[in-house]
Amino acid sequence: MAETTAAPIDRILQHIKYLSVDIGPRGSTTEGERKGAEYCQAEMQRAGLAPVTERFRSAKSIFLPHLIGSGLFLAAFILYPTGGRVTAFIAFLVSAISLASELLELGFIDNPFRWIIPKGTSQNVVGIIPAEAEHRQDLVLIGHIDTQRTPLVFSTPRWVEVYKNFTTVAFVLFSLQVVLYLGGWATGWGWIWPVSGVSAAGAALLALLCIQADLTPFTAGANDNASSVGMVLTLAEQLSQHPLKHTRVFSVCTGCEEVQHYGAIDFFKRHRAEMVRPRGLVFELLGCAGPAYLEKEGIIVPFHSDPELVRLVKEAGAQGSAKPPYPVSISGGNSEMADCVRFKVPAISIFGLKPDGEAPYWHQAGDTFDKMNPAVLRDTYQLVWQAIQCLDQEAG
Ligand SMILES: [Zn+2]
Repeated sequence: MAETTAAPIDRILQHIKYLSVDIGPRGSTTEGERKGAEYCQAEMQRAGLAPVTERFRSAKSIFLPHLIGSGLFLAAFILYPTGGRVTAFIAFLVSAISLASELLELGFIDNPFRWIIPKGTSQNVVGIIPAEAEHRQDLVLIGHIDTQRTPLVFSTPRWVEVYKNFTTVAFVLFSLQVVLYLGGWATGWGWIWPVSGVSAAGAALLALLCIQADLTPFTAGANDNASSVGMVLTLAEQLSQHPLKHTRVFSVCTGCEEVQHYGAIDFFKRHRAEMVRPRGLVFELLGCAGPAYLEKEGIIVPFHSDPELVRLVKEAGAQGSAKPPYPVSISGGNSEMADCVRFKVPAISIFGLKPDGEAPYWHQAGDTFDKMNPAVLRDTYQLVWQAIQCLDQEAG
């Protein structure tokens, strides 16, 4: 297998280099992201596929909804004491609507924040490789083109930890403010407003973090996530030369993952109905650590990898020259596996976290091409290639 995969590794590195060096930062809905999609379209075409670029509207910032949310909690705090029970009730309503919207936003569900935030145009690139013999199942390969900003809260592993804990605390404080203001409206107790100063302080801090985040530049995104786009494009090229027997493959390079997965959601809305026994293989951060597979992910709401696909990936790692993968999980974020699961597509993420859970160069200015580790990419490619072959054989 070593000889046959030498070329694919070179191809993956070429793709990462073009995306992260020649194009550079690819913020959601920006010109850079559009150029990245054009490149994917051209490369899939060159590989003999007939790719389609599918456009959609998307949010431009992942932080703006939370800035609006924290602003509303602050506004409720200021309003509360100004007019007795009436303003207490309005402050309760504003806080409750804000909390509900925050929860819906974290769950990728439409909400009032999304009705008012500015939107831009983005695109997915989708290439389909038919099965060679009878078509019995589908496989969806997903890697996102866009890159995130470089906020203070992602600058070091310690900051990431602090931020993760702070978001949990903020959520508890906001829930508390809703309960307190409901109680304040019902009872008129005087101690309630000063106590709610704690949640107001939390809201102010969150607002500042969101403003800081939206003022930072976008990363070049070599690891997150040109590495995965390179994987999808290389697999597409190899699979079009060596098609699977019973598995049709959707190669999907998505836009706007970094702003709550507008691209993956658009893809499944368009294509889910035409799929036959689909399975999802989602890629994240493949260039520095791994091979690793995700067991569990999610912010507050957890999503799990499909147990059958976990078995398959483990078996693939025990065969041939593939290196056995290790399991990882994330509690402060989501991959597009969450979209697969929500559209009833059993899925697994191949997610290059370190064994201790650290995400290398995640949303940092240092996420550049020179950090790519060819040995890690080769091991991951071999594992994925082997897993795809096993999946196809099991349908035979
Ligand atoms: Zn990513």
